[in-house]
Amino acid sequence: MYDDSNIFAQIIRGKIPCKKIYEDKDVLFFEDISPVSKVHVLGIPKVSCVNFSDFISNNDEKVIANFFQKVNLVVKKLEIEKTGYRIISNSGSDGGQEVPHFHIHILGGEKIGPKIR
Ligand code: 5GP
Repeated sequence: MYDDSNIFAQIIRGKIPCKKIYEDKDVLFFEDISPVSKVHVLGIPKVSCVNFSDFISNNDEKVIANFFQKVNLVVKKLEIEKTGYRIISNSGSDGGQEVPHFHIHILGGEKIGPKIR
């Protein structure tokens, strides 16, 4: 069940500020408030979805493809395509998910250790 009082839902509504990297009507990318690497950007679709499986199962393929194309656009914008990066999506309790709105972490700007985020 999606809880629209979660932090990212409030960021989408502009109730909580964030440092935006990229935004359009469907997606938002912003800096993580507590970065674990030099580059640490979060990416979210604006549709209400709790986690990766919810996003994939309950959205049109155009919405899904658009989100991941925008992830790639942001990777280019961050200029980490050549040096490398890691994309992570934590889901549920074992995955260590804190915020119940599907999001991906884009980590880069330095070598990322074996277990991070
Ligand atoms: P999760 O553990 O759910 O995959 O990651 C949630 C991420 O959201 C964490 O890396 C945390 O630092 C970040 N975060 C939590 N609250 C805020 C906030 O209010 N603003 C921003 N920009 N990031 C947040």
